[in-house]
Amino acid sequence: MGVIGRRRFLRLTALAAASGVSGLALAARARMPVKGRVVLVGGGFAGSACALQLRRLDASIDVSLIDPLESYVTCPMSNEVLTGLRDLASITVSRAGVRRAGIRLVRDRVAAIDVSARTVRLEGGHTLPFDRLVVAPGIRFLWNKPEGYDAAAAQSMPHAWQAGDQTQRLAAQLRAMDDGGVVAISVPSGLMRCPPAPYERASLIAHYLARHKPRSKVLILDSNNHFPRQDVFTGAWQSLYPGLIEWIASTQDGAVMRVDTASMTLYTANDAYRVAVANVIPPQAPGQIAADAGLASDHGWCPIVARTFESQLIANVHVIGDACIADAMPKSASAAVSQAKQCASAIVALLGGHEVPDPTFDSVCYSMLAPDSALSIPGRFAVQDERIAALELPAASTAVNSGAQQARDAQRWYRRIRAESFAG
Ligand SMILES: Cc1cc2nc3c(=O)[nH]c(=O)nc-3n(C[C@H](O)[C@H](O)[C@H](O)COP(=O)(O)OP(=O)(O)OC[C@H]3O[C@@H](n4cnc5c(N)ncnc54)[C@H](O)[C@@H]3O)c2cc1C
Repeated sequence: MGVIGRRRFLRLTALAAASGVSGLALAARARMPVKGRVVLVGGGFAGSACALQLRRLDASIDVSLIDPLESYVTCPMSNEVLTGLRDLASITVSRAGVRRAGIRLVRDRVAAIDVSARTVRLEGGHTLPFDRLVVAPGIRFLWNKPEGYDAAAAQSMPHAWQAGDQTQRLAAQLRAMDDGGVVAISVPSGLMRCPPAPYERASLIAHYLARHKPRSKVLILDSNNHFPRQDVFTGAWQSLYPGLIEWIASTQDGAVMRVDTASMTLYTANDAYRVAVANVIPPQAPGQIAADAGLASDHGWCPIVARTFESQLIANVHVIGDACIADAMPKSASAAVSQAKQCASAIVALLGGHEVPDPTFDSVCYSMLAPDSALSIPGRFAVQDERIAALELPAASTAVNSGAQQARDAQRWYRRIRAESFAG
């Protein structure tokens, strides 16, 4: 077999079958001098953007990206799908661009990480070795909080907090409900994916109801007492949807404690709300594989070294995206991509024995208030005293932050971040 050896060729061919890349292509790559093997777990915004950035920065790094899903459905813009402003196909991204970039895409799920052997085991049976591992599995849900809310309950009271089937299920319920019904959104407390998104969802559902079911209303049962840019959201609700959205804070008995799917009832400490549609967003934690691998700390999420995103708990393993604790950075797609780029630079530097560059992170979250009006929440962050701190932004970038221009910017941002993260 010559240069790469028969056993390695057979292993590459088997992997190629799982990844959809030709065995000969992998064998050709195997002949190049390899600076290091980087395996990425999870091909969402974080993992996919990191794989692409590694490929851009250094062609001699062997990059494998593992995800069980052939295509990826984005949560950004999924609230538009719920309310008929888009279809699911328009937020579904193919992996073709990632494949074209020369990344070995393995369609499988990582079942276990062996940190001392530096290997990952796939559910399909293969084992992949790594020099550096990037774990980007997103979130999992903490079931039975509220009591009775589990995976089965999510079929009749969809969370729609991972886009795809759940989005379609909630959209179908909104379409089917009679005029005059109440649509409840239950918001959890604690760290969560995209904190402004429940209120964007309330806005777009109100827009839909105002046009199609004007006697209906949106009821937000909140386990929090404040939410991001509450002033702008509530101002927009008063002018765009007067009387249509009611928000009940935690101190006003807004926290949902229990659900009963049979009677479509949400129970708070002192009240019961029987509703037509219940969107229950459960509390969240990092993807299961991160917890199983020992990457999460006692408070649930994965602590990292701010400059490199290397785990504080396990050497040579990095955690990016929603799963990590990035201090002041929100759990958003734009933050995930910013972290992914820094993590890729850090890995290239660490594998090459160079100094890790100083990061500056950006994030911008757009929330649609109506199809032609959006709110933007920009952020800039830097590492200060080993933590990621929010930097003061120039007044101009935060002063005018909602309106028609932001709605156009939101659509532009969405196209850009998709292209950046999935090369397609
Ligand atoms: C309704 C809604 C609206 C949003 N809108 C915005 C917005 O406008 N702007 C914004 O910036 N953010 C927005 N977000 C947040 C954004 O979706 C997330 O922050 C982002 O998806 C996080 O990316 P991630 O890569 O960390 O996780 P994910 O996108 O969840 O990707 C994780 C990937 O890991 C894979 N995976 C999990 N476990 C394994 C395993 N064991 N083996 C292999 N693969 C695995 C999964 O299949 C998945 O593809 C929104 C979120 C919601 C819910």
